Amino acid sequence: MKPESLMMSYGYKPSLSEGAIKCPIFQTSTFVFNTALEGKRFFEVAYGLREKDQDEEMGLIYSRLNNPDLEILEDRLCLWDGAEECAVFESGMSAISTAMMEFMKPGDLLLYSKPVYGGTDHFINHFLKKLQISSVGFRADETKEEIIKKIEEKGLGHKLSMIHIETPANPTNAIIDIEMCAEIKKHFETIENPIVFSVDNTYMGPVWQHPLKHGADLVLYSATKYIGGHSDVIAGACLGSKELMGRVKGLRTFLGNMAGPWTGWLLMRSLETLKVRMDQQAKNAKHVAEFLNAHPLVESVYYLGNAAVNGTEKERELIAKQYKSYGAMIAFDIKGGEKEAFCFLDNLKLIKLAVSLGGTESLAEHPQTMTHADVDSEDKVAMNITEKLIRLSIGVENYDDLISDLKSAFDQINH
Ligand SMILES: *Cc1c(COP(=O)(O)O)cnc(C)c1O
Repeated sequence: MKPESLMMSYGYKPSLSEGAIKCPIFQTSTFVFNTALEGKRFFEVAYGLREKDQDEEMGLIYSRLNNPDLEILEDRLCLWDGAEECAVFESGMSAISTAMMEFMKPGDLLLYSKPVYGGTDHFINHFLKKLQISSVGFRADETKEEIIKKIEEKGLGHKLSMIHIETPANPTNAIIDIEMCAEIKKHFETIENPIVFSVDNTYMGPVWQHPLKHGADLVLYSATKYIGGHSDVIAGACLGSKELMGRVKGLRTFLGNMAGPWTGWLLMRSLETLKVRMDQQAKNAKHVAEFLNAHPLVESVYYLGNAAVNGTEKERELIAKQYKSYGAMIAFDIKGGEKEAFCFLDNLKLIKLAVSLGGTESLAEHPQTMTHADVDSEDKVAMNITEKLIRLSIGVENYDDLISDLKSAFDQINH
């Protein structure tokens, strides 16, 4: 069955919860063992002292280690990405920072795509730097050979321990070839120096892009965005093989940054409508993009649906290979500069002026002065993050209403 058919019931047994059709919120810190021997056996597995027997389920011990709301949610999230295991976190940043801390150590090198999410960028360039973990960034327009040369020129190839990318890149939907990054990993990897390749898949959510199928080792999410989808919860997730996830979950246990049962319950509720929400958002985005493409006050529109038609051969090939949809994120250049952009943003009514993305309500923001204020100016120019750029996250509203709202905001410019 398809994941959307399984989101209502997968992994949950009503008979264990008084027949409740929905998984209750297990608002409990600890779990009672039936016998001391049972407790001993649960701990043996939890601390890796022995392997689980076949058919043996991991016993519930303490909510920092496991909790039904988290475990069922994690099993359901695995279905979308075809992952073996998942760990849910209290935020997207905690998923990203925990994975990076687990797979890198002082002296190591990180290769990452630019620009990445502002919080990730800060973590890489401040916290990791403090731990003597250095980094090399690359943009979507750089080739495999150029990227490899950058690392080899620094003489740090043998120190490369992690590759981390975001695609399509926020805010202009620049596309990075996931398989190319897997080849860069192969180029540098040795038995003594394994490399972990992670993809922050927040921008496409678990429905529209599946990085594990293109050679990534880990998929990371801010579940705050499409997965949560209602702008009412902060959460994150990391998915991958049993082996890698064992390590991520190990560090999560000791950092204590797992999501709580209430967050787990909210995300399970959200997952039931993930596919229908995202389908509608993508459909709305297509109509909005068509409107923007034709509007006289719009200079350029950055949308995968446009790149799929007018993009370079490489872009068109990557879109066909990596994406199941053109997504619901659109950026565009308005004619003029900051004054016109702000006038437009201040006159939207239905579409809210806020950062974040992927929720049921449409949002608009100004990357240059908001989400991407911290990006260095050379990268800003290269990525078309200028004062005339506006980013839209399209929600589930009626698309005619969204278009009317955009239209009346445009009408206020120069009035
Ligand atoms: C929002 C976001 C994050 C951070 O997630 P939080 O849930 O806010 O911690 C990471 N990556 C991307 C691409 C995001 O959009």
